[in-house]
Amino acid sequence: MHCPFCGANDTKVIDSRLVADGHQVRRRRQCLACNERYTTFETAELVMPRVIKTNGNRDPFNEDKLRGGIQRALEKRPVSADDIERAINTIKSRLRATGEREVPSEMIGNLVMEALKELDKVAYIRFASVYRSFEDIREFGEEIAKLEK
Ligand SMILES: [Zn+2]
Repeated sequence: MHCPFCGANDTKVIDSRLVADGHQVRRRRQCLACNERYTTFETAELVMPRVIKTNGNRDPFNEDKLRGGIQRALEKRPVSADDIERAINTIKSRLRATGEREVPSEMIGNLVMEALKELDKVAYIRFASVYRSFEDIREFGEEIAKLEK
């Protein structure tokens, strides 16, 4: 990062240590141009990205809504609550891993489809038929045919 005193872009780290039980890295830096010292703190950003809806509106990420969608697709299917939670956590970490502050809602839909494909084929078809709103039965058939490969 640029020196906050003179704006030079060459700074060196003179000390680096873990703080806050290892959840944060504290770095002492020195500017190579003006020799001023300053401290930076680095933490992992665990905030979920916001969701860009198809109409362009931004919504906060809603875990309950995600869980609700997955549970609806898995209704009366032989999938344990543990597996559902694991799938939700995987989806959340993949969203965070994008490093984006905002992600399109389609991305979440696609991640849910991938997760359901692994968990339960029937739930996958249920979800896909609503989410992709298949226009005709032929398209639906193609999706099922893909599954059988
Ligand atoms: Zn400087």
